[in-house]
Amino acid sequence: MSFLTLRGVTASYGASQALFGIDLDIAEGEVVALMGRNGMGKTTTVKAICRMLPAGGTITFDGKDLTRLPSHAAARLGIGLVPEGRRCFRDLTVWENLIAAHRPGAWDWQAVTRLFPRLAERRDQRAATLSGGEQQMLAVGRALMTNPRLLILDEATEGLAPLIRAEIWDAIARLKADTAMSILVIDKSLKELRQVADCAVLVARGRTVWTGAMADLDAETSAAHVGV
Ligand code: ATP
Repeated sequence: MSFLTLRGVTASYGASQALFGIDLDIAEGEVVALMGRNGMGKTTTVKAICRMLPAGGTITFDGKDLTRLPSHAAARLGIGLVPEGRRCFRDLTVWENLIAAHRPGAWDWQAVTRLFPRLAERRDQRAATLSGGEQQMLAVGRALMTNPRLLILDEATEGLAPLIRAEIWDAIARLKADTAMSILVIDKSLKELRQVADCAVLVARGRTVWTGAMADLDAETSAAHVGV
């Protein structure tokens, strides 16, 4: 059964319409890849889901109509976002960043640092002084600390060194194997997405143009809409 459902979702930045009809389903425990070329509407779709932008159409999460809720209410329902650009509180330490995000549940300091031991090593370091990869781990850790039922990763491996990218992909694979969390992942690495995602949703010019099992995504379709 679908846990998150988008039907005909539209959204605009002022007078400029960015989404014209996004359809997307995520079942509980499923990993879905949201793909498309630059500027096609992936981040805007995430903003619509997280209520950071008013949206038309329907968005339901666990049976509730999200379009009527403010963003803080959406987060409270259990949507954890790792935003593009890995935003953390730069002047807070790793520990403070994580504790500030915490909501009750299985994900706590111990669980997050088990997934990313490097964060424990950097416990008292200010986020601003971390490497890009460590900041990304912290951003994922912060989202996990909210104990989400749906985790959204927007370009979590963008601009990172290969070894760090591999660590992030490994963490996503472990979340998939060890938890019942649903995951929506936006990334440009088709090879890694193929290994971790169950389904794919391809968008072009603000519309869903292809949906299906990751295994059914053929080279022609991905070349047309993802550019790989
Ligand atoms: P990328 O991979 O480059 O992040 P994307 O698929 O996430 O691309 P979006 O960021 O959702 O694409 O952008 C969709 C459209 O909305 C684009 O035409 C973009 O120029 C426009 N857009 C995005 N952010 C804004 C904004 N803050 N104000 C106005 N237009 C915007």
